[in-house]
Amino acid sequence: MASQGCSGFVRGTMKATKDIYYDVVITGSGFGSLFFLHKYLRQFPTAKRILVLERGRLNSHGWQLSKGKNSDIDVADTIAIPEGHKPWKFTIGLGGGTNCWWGMTPRMHPSDFELYSRYSVGTDWPISYADLEPYYVEAEDIMSVSGDVGMEVMFPRSAPYPQPPHRLAAPDRVLKQAYPGRHFAVPVARRRIATSQGRACCAHGNCNLCPVDAKFNLFNGMSEVYQDPRVSVMQEAEVTGFETADLNISAVTYRQGGQMHRARGELFVLGANAIFTPYLLQKSGIASEFTGKGLNEQVGAEVEVLLDGLDNFDGSTATSGINYSLFEGEHRRDVAATTVVFRNRWPNGLRHEYGRWRQLLSIWITAEDLPQAGNYVSTSDRDGIPLVFHTGASDYASNGIKRALSALPELLRPLPVESIGKVNWRKTESHIQGTTPMGNDPASSEVDHRLIHHKYRNLVIVGSSVFPGCPTANPSLTVAALALRAGDLLV
Ligand SMILES: Cc1cc2nc3c(=O)[nH]c(=O)nc-3n(C[C@H](O)[C@H](O)[C@H](O)COP(=O)(O)OP(=O)(O)OC[C@H]3O[C@@H](n4cnc5c(N)ncnc54)[C@H](O)[C@@H]3O)c2cc1C
Ligand code: SF4
Repeated sequence: MASQGCSGFVRGTMKATKDIYYDVVITGSGFGSLFFLHKYLRQFPTAKRILVLERGRLNSHGWQLSKGKNSDIDVADTIAIPEGHKPWKFTIGLGGGTNCWWGMTPRMHPSDFELYSRYSVGTDWPISYADLEPYYVEAEDIMSVSGDVGMEVMFPRSAPYPQPPHRLAAPDRVLKQAYPGRHFAVPVARRRIATSQGRACCAHGNCNLCPVDAKFNLFNGMSEVYQDPRVSVMQEAEVTGFETADLNISAVTYRQGGQMHRARGELFVLGANAIFTPYLLQKSGIASEFTGKGLNEQVGAEVEVLLDGLDNFDGSTATSGINYSLFEGEHRRDVAATTVVFRNRWPNGLRHEYGRWRQLLSIWITAEDLPQAGNYVSTSDRDGIPLVFHTGASDYASNGIKRALSALPELLRPLPVESIGKVNWRKTESHIQGTTPMGNDPASSEVDHRLIHHKYRNLVIVGSSVFPGCPTANPSLTVAALALRAGDLLV
């Protein structure tokens, strides 16, 4: 299936494009670009020439499995991180983060879009949950998301999930009873039921390299977008900058096969992830004073809990339940909202005692953060290598984790807990957000609510760089929904 998906892609063999004037030139082929183009192709049937410039290669599912990695390009060779600063994870390759992601697809909560109005902290988004809701539905349909329709008590929805929820593991079944309306099966883009696109998830728990190809990615879920006859995909084409004429982008420059090229066009879309997107604006001399600032991701911590007499790991996917008991409320004026995810796997191994191997629980707590201007992306003295500074998250976020840890014994009271182990603060959540934020005011944001650049009106920026805040939810479903909306509103 995956290899069929790959064979039709245009390989990076096209010649320089100086004589072609494109309707759209897209930088990057990951989540944001893919969902934007999906919508654009439907909305603009007369557009005939679309160019996608992707720095990485097409690495098929088979290639990734055989090599045990998602890309032939090492992240460490693409960015510079000062000693002691936070590490970042991403994939350089056709499909971007759709390759390596774990398929977690919770929606952002209505309150996440109104954090400032409700709690006088952070920023309001320039759109509401209601504005994005139809696009959440569309993105969930495309990715065959499996989820619990009961979540609508917190996350209103206009249509059911396309797939039923995954089977909960034993501890989650207990907690769902104890916390009605607060504990749910985690929504995931890992198929509960086999479809014509691929097999059902079998809870293997290695989702960045899923052996059965049950998790949505470019190749098994949306290959038709880049195989559309109107679309030319250039691999190993590294965009190096933008050229401008008056207040328009007139061309992108890119390096391919050791040579520099230029592609001219009408509309430009930039979706190179939240590190390279601001970096390309900076390198092109079209950055504003805040471009690249506010780099962020959630703060995470893991805890292992020993259970007394309750066997775990009978759920049907890698992550079983999500609990929102510590999420919404007045505490958000002072400390972060947190979500608690219950994993259907055992990262530190099973228990050793005879017959009690499965009596443990792996918990993952995630806190929202408030973007800090002191965490930022900038150019460096090495060509093509951004410098990525992140000295730490806000106290708001770390205090949110501490609040959740203090509340954990009470939260877990419905379970037969033997002991709660020591806390492991996670180095990264593998999300990169916030360096070209959306907003209504050009004085404090890069793009408007349609993701159009405030100054260069033929430039659309997609991807998680446009997030003005950092809610607890994993970002990619929202990236996809925002990109679908941007494609829709372009009309
Ligand atoms: C291990 C891992 C697990 C994750 N799990 C989840 C999860 O479960 N749920 C979730 O919501 N999110 C998850 N994520 C995060 C998810 O991958 C990102 O949120 C998502 O990919 C962001 O989309 P994007 O469009 O901003 O960037 P990307 O999808 O990263 O796309 C950027 C694209 O731009 C290309 N590019 C970069 N520079 C250039 C250039 N100069 N020229 C041309 N092309 C360029 C890249 O190669 C890439 O294809 C995970 C990430 C990792 C690493
Ligand atoms: S849990 Fe296993 S089968 Fe399911 S998506 Fe992850 S790796 Fe694939």
